[in-house]
Amino acid sequence: MTDVQQRAGWRERHAHDLMGSYAPPLRLLERGEGCWVWDDEGTRYLDFLGGIAVNSLGHAHPVVLTAIAEQAARFVHVSNYFASAPQLGLAERLKRITGAGEEGRVYFGNSGAEANEAAFKLARRTGRPRILALKNAFHGRTMGALALTGKPAMQQPFLPLPGGVEHLDSTVEALRQAMRDDVAALVVEPIKGETGVVPLPEGYLREARELTREYGALLVVDEIQTGVGRTGAWFDYQHEGVLPDAVTIAKGIAGGVPLGAMVTFGAASGLLQRGDHGSTFGGNALAAATANAVLDEIERADLIGNAARRGEQLRTAVTRMGSSLVTEVRGRGLLIGVGTVDGAAPAIAAAALERGLIVNPINPTSVRIAPPLIVGDAEVDFFTEVFGAALAAA
Ligand SMILES: *Cc1c(COP(=O)(O)O)cnc(C)c1O
Repeated sequence: MTDVQQRAGWRERHAHDLMGSYAPPLRLLERGEGCWVWDDEGTRYLDFLGGIAVNSLGHAHPVVLTAIAEQAARFVHVSNYFASAPQLGLAERLKRITGAGEEGRVYFGNSGAEANEAAFKLARRTGRPRILALKNAFHGRTMGALALTGKPAMQQPFLPLPGGVEHLDSTVEALRQAMRDDVAALVVEPIKGETGVVPLPEGYLREARELTREYGALLVVDEIQTGVGRTGAWFDYQHEGVLPDAVTIAKGIAGGVPLGAMVTFGAASGLLQRGDHGSTFGGNALAAATANAVLDEIERADLIGNAARRGEQLRTAVTRMGSSLVTEVRGRGLLIGVGTVDGAAPAIAAAALERGLIVNPINPTSVRIAPPLIVGDAEVDFFTEVFGAALAAA
């Protein structure tokens, strides 16, 4: 088949050949460069969803290309019966940037859900029966991760789920009432990304740290969306000055190559024993080498500082638009939620897409914005112009 034949009728072919579990795709994309992508008709878009907070370095970044090519020329994968230098280097680096330090240990999987499955098993290994999580939080789609996810509508068709998980209101008060010495773990997202970029209340994480420590429960922070520099720190909990017992990481870590990780701190590092968990692909050489290159570049180019500065610019720009559709602007760094009047978010995102800007209407009242960490002046200017026009048109 020629390229043209392959592209013809792609919407119908997608509907015909792919499982119906996703919404129909918006465009057929062909290539990307930096913060931009092009579709099959040659139309260019500013990608301010970044593969859902995945493409930290944007598209076709030379650092990512080189890392993939060089590692693939050695080997892509050797299984966890063998060690590889990229995996060892990445584990060491993750212990450093998470703050887990000497006592830290790293488990590698291939996705966010897998990182949270590992955290679920870590919690079970405490021998305690109860796991606390938060209403409206998202932790993934596999059965354990779905059990942690505080969205009854997502869970309902798949009951029964692994037991023992209780979903609390996101208040210190609710946590205090639920906390006893039979709690294995509290699992939290510092900013609820899939719920429209909704941060935990000020001070919640610090209080949660104190309460979990007092009762001997694990504090597990899901930084799958917030981590790896996006919020203007390597990890969002670092803004609060707390250290968790485990952090789960995925999305932005390897520039789009699938990789998930759980990093444990202190005594939690001894909970999973030989044979307790594993993965065929988890942390393979290709994914680990790419992650090392991405994390190197984030440090070298101070993309964490860039995330903080650009995030502030973007939030200020949206606020200044003064649109009657916008009710608030949330988030930290380059994870931004634009709160809208009810039902407006999808129309705003559609108007933006028509004008060459990709943003994500995650629910009827929220537009999520998660650009690559490399975003610069040209992108901020384009966004400001086009998002303003989209708000005016929606
Ligand atoms: C995306 C996400 C997950 C799930 O990650 P997958 O790679 O899709 O399995 C879990 N937790 C949070 C906070 C996420 O944003």
